[in-house]
Amino acid sequence: MELQGKNVLVVGMARTGIASARFLLGRGARVTISDAQEAEEQAAACRELAGKGVVLETGGHQLKTFLAAELIVMSPGVPLEIAPLQAAQERGIEIISEIELAYRFLKTPLIAITGTNGKTTTTALLGEMFRDAGKRVFVGGNIGTPLIDYVAGPQEDDFVIAEISSFQLEAITSFRPYVSVMLNITEDHLDRYLSFADYIAAKNRMFMNQGPEDTAILNFDDSRVMALENEVRAQKLFFSIRQAVPAGAFYNGDLHLRYQGTEVRFTVRDALLKGIHNIENMMAAAAVGAVCMLPEKSIRQSLTEFAGLTHRMEFVDEIQGVAFYNDSKATNVGAVVKSLESLAPPLILIAGGKDKGGSYEPLRELIRTKTKALVLLGEAREKIFTELGSEVETEMVSSLNEAVRVAFGKAVPGDTILFSPACSSFDMFTSYAHRGECFKELVKKLKA
Ligand code: ADP
Repeated sequence: MELQGKNVLVVGMARTGIASARFLLGRGARVTISDAQEAEEQAAACRELAGKGVVLETGGHQLKTFLAAELIVMSPGVPLEIAPLQAAQERGIEIISEIELAYRFLKTPLIAITGTNGKTTTTALLGEMFRDAGKRVFVGGNIGTPLIDYVAGPQEDDFVIAEISSFQLEAITSFRPYVSVMLNITEDHLDRYLSFADYIAAKNRMFMNQGPEDTAILNFDDSRVMALENEVRAQKLFFSIRQAVPAGAFYNGDLHLRYQGTEVRFTVRDALLKGIHNIENMMAAAAVGAVCMLPEKSIRQSLTEFAGLTHRMEFVDEIQGVAFYNDSKATNVGAVVKSLESLAPPLILIAGGKDKGGSYEPLRELIRTKTKALVLLGEAREKIFTELGSEVETEMVSSLNEAVRVAFGKAVPGDTILFSPACSSFDMFTSYAHRGECFKELVKKLKA
């Protein structure tokens, strides 16, 4: 792809947009960045880019800027539906996402992980597994360092392991992973997609350019994932916690890996990662390891020793026999389902935050059978109360501090308090991480 002298517009001035602009500049493009907001957090980076000749357009998009571009590179945070992008599309201007731009320059085999939940955990676990096997890997994408930063460098790694979101897949044309993983599909981001079908269609794009030399790893137990199976042209491996699969991984108390006529068993009872959802993540990762010919020893070691990430069903502390778990990263219903399934009752669930437009119905049965109380906060509290409040003793509170105290007031020794919001954090916090840190701080104070 020739970028020299090309008039390129980058849309979105957060981390990925800035990284894309730097890359394009390095390739001799004439770069403009446009953002609907004032990019205050990126002030220093903007100054640096402006000093190198990048034109900055902040606090609103100008239609003429979009129509003057020869190529538009999208940041994942920006919806394709915004009017100036639609106008550019009608004019036939090429619009691609940052991962597509990166892919066009990528020389390293790509392993791409997507799904509604478990992407970051699986991606990080794979990083450990490949490193343990002595492979040089770049781990990034939707988490950490954008893919475009990797292709800007010398590309000396053996593999790129990338977490990929549905937003990033919206504007790809040639992006083609050597190994793709589809962990699961449950409702999410209905505040951004017109329908659940649109969200699934975006996820499905992961497979669209794969061929028989590539591999797709699919969750056999997830009917929405399996509904896409016929469209997958890559070699298929499956993973299941319910039944033995012909090729891939399954769990029956131990994890079995079947690949190219061999079967290996891994005992994961002592694994540091807990919960059935993490068994699924481990199976998917083990299957990737098999495809990439990693030694059995490295797969075994990483499966047992990978300790997981903060804010994902993270044990915080025990106070007077009551355990506290921080699951602030559970920003959708599917993640909460897995946490409720994984922890032993009686549970007290603290949930709520910024609603994303989906239904809380999938929680009903688990609320009824595993929780003794529900404590609701944030913008979504009334909606959750209306949908689920009749199932169990439910209280609405106005702050996280109050939520922790009310939940503890209802607890007796042996209970577990789970903070698993099922909503995004932006009504009261700057991010899920900020929200999780606040929760842990409040538990600490309670103990003191
Ligand atoms: P993502 O990067 O897709 O958001 P994370 O690994 O950060 O995934 O986990 C997000 C939330 O989903 C956490 O609450 C975690 O406990 C839960 N989770 C992790 N893996 C899975 C899975 N395979 N299925 C369902 N929920 C999961």
